[in-house]
Amino acid sequence: MSTRIFKYSLYLFMFFISINGISQSSKPIPELQKKLSINQIAPKGWLKEKLRQNLNGFTGHLDELEPTLIQDDDIYGKDRLSKKVQHKNVGAMSDAVEFQSQFLWWNSETQSNWFDGYIRTAVLLHDSIHLKKISTKINYLLSTQDADGYLGIYDKELRYNFNDENGELWSKTTLCRALLAWYDYSKDNRVLNAVLRCADNVITNYPINASHPFATKNPYAGGLTHGLAFTDVLEQLYVITKDHKYLDYIPFLYNDFSKQNLNEDAQQFKLMKASVPLMGHSVHTYEHLRTVAAAYQATGDASLKLTLDGFLQKINQVTTASGAAIGDEFIGGRKADATNAGYEYCSLLELMDAYISLYKKTNDPNYANKIEKLFFNAALGASHPTESSICYLKTDNSYALEGGKNGDQSDKNQTRYRYSPVHKEAAVCCVPNAGKIVASYVENMWFQNGNNVLALLLGPSELKFNLKGNPITIKEITSYPYSNKISFKITNKKSERFSLIIKKPEGVEKLILNMPYEEKGGYIQVNRIWKNDDELIVQMDMIVQSHHTAQGEQYFMYGPLVLAHPIDAKQQITKNYSVAGLKEMTYTAFDKSIYLYTGMPVTKMESLNDIRFSTTMKESTTGKIVPLELIPMGKTILRQTTFKKAD
Ligand SMILES: [Zn+2]
Repeated sequence: MSTRIFKYSLYLFMFFISINGISQSSKPIPELQKKLSINQIAPKGWLKEKLRQNLNGFTGHLDELEPTLIQDDDIYGKDRLSKKVQHKNVGAMSDAVEFQSQFLWWNSETQSNWFDGYIRTAVLLHDSIHLKKISTKINYLLSTQDADGYLGIYDKELRYNFNDENGELWSKTTLCRALLAWYDYSKDNRVLNAVLRCADNVITNYPINASHPFATKNPYAGGLTHGLAFTDVLEQLYVITKDHKYLDYIPFLYNDFSKQNLNEDAQQFKLMKASVPLMGHSVHTYEHLRTVAAAYQATGDASLKLTLDGFLQKINQVTTASGAAIGDEFIGGRKADATNAGYEYCSLLELMDAYISLYKKTNDPNYANKIEKLFFNAALGASHPTESSICYLKTDNSYALEGGKNGDQSDKNQTRYRYSPVHKEAAVCCVPNAGKIVASYVENMWFQNGNNVLALLLGPSELKFNLKGNPITIKEITSYPYSNKISFKITNKKSERFSLIIKKPEGVEKLILNMPYEEKGGYIQVNRIWKNDDELIVQMDMIVQSHHTAQGEQYFMYGPLVLAHPIDAKQQITKNYSVAGLKEMTYTAFDKSIYLYTGMPVTKMESLNDIRFSTTMKESTTGKIVPLELIPMGKTILRQTTFKKAD
């Protein structure tokens, strides 16, 4: 049998297995990296400043900015949803009420995703005032749990009793992720027990292989399909308890999700067909990447490996220069496009967290590069550089931020392409997730596996860990990615041998270290007996590298930074909040010039305080060759990031 025929036969065999459900005969694959406690990693430098900006801004104050959705709706407590509430009737089938039913769970997502990011940010900053407020709210949330373990948003008549859109699993997912973040910090067993009882209550009421949690009359069921992310909770509970029932439940959920009539990209039979493009609501699609990865890990099933690989290939096709995957808010079968396809802030967080999950499963440093690229460029580039506000939607080339995409005014209801600390007109989903993304980056900067200590996601930070009972601190002193020098300073009472492993950043031409090192598989490794005050200095020589998009447009990178030409713009403040000095803003370009690439080099300018680059390009309407400045796109508001070639 030729290799080709063999591969084809294998594919057919795998496909046969997949359409008949996930094979039960395979074995789980253990994760290679375990997340460290949030208490072990401290942000420093610009990362700490960004977290502080969030805590002083929308993350620390969203409940005051939007009290009606957060403070006034006690959705997990006295305002649980019931059939008696006519305007919240889940079972109704008319179009108007169906549309309303979408919103029934919405406040639970807003509240819990906000609370999750708020917890992580306050913990990472050791902010005692906010921690006290959080502790009170945690105690209240624990008090809403019923005697049978039910934690959620439905009364006894409705719960686990749906044949249509509902937020049963999704409202639990967002809340349990937040509770587990608090448990990680506090080690309060009441909190862990609440999550365990909640998960057990789900497993009892949706019995494994004997129920259909994703059954629905209506294939457009956003809250229901968000609920597949309950696998995030199950994965964490397995890591904490090692109880296989949580792991076993993951492929059951994915199997049922795949078998139902749903308009979702991540169903197995769709992912197995390369010809089926991604169509769905982007935030669902990218969060479901974690579930597919988790289902493969939980089973070791070969058909799921093919499914996962197919999914990653499809995501690559919709990924822009900044590392974002498109969806504004639907992907709609389009390919990545720097000007015409936007991305939602929520999907940046969900995709980044999926890459973190994949990294822990594979140790593949390419995922770390994807995380850095997405975070430094797409995410910071959709956050305001100096104000606490974000764009709900943004494009890599951003020529106007006035509500519509790049100046499009055809839809008066489109308000997502502008800066706001709330975005209530659209949905309060992106701002809570913008509060999570910086914390999520920081929490996953470091890993430890016995004697191997890994600086994975780079940046100013501090790690505390124990080796043979001896406490050791490593300070990572740098302004990376805005500097290409990193110093690792060790503090320990007793000298210890361990390997300090550093993920080599993208685009490094040459490394200079002040200690002997080995370079292997995308990592730099220094193995030695580390003494107190030892300092490893890593100097990374980089040059500007030229890349092109699928449409053949040119863009430039310096290390992990994507460069963009900042466009001078007129700021208009459209709303002032009485809370924390926050505001909403639009931006209109002073100059509508678009530049074409003529092949001239992009060079780094010598600057002590900033990182800037210069080149010359052709102005597209006048044909004039002009000097042009580029800066990291993460520091821009309006910008041109990709450049068509001049004729
Ligand atoms: Zn969103």
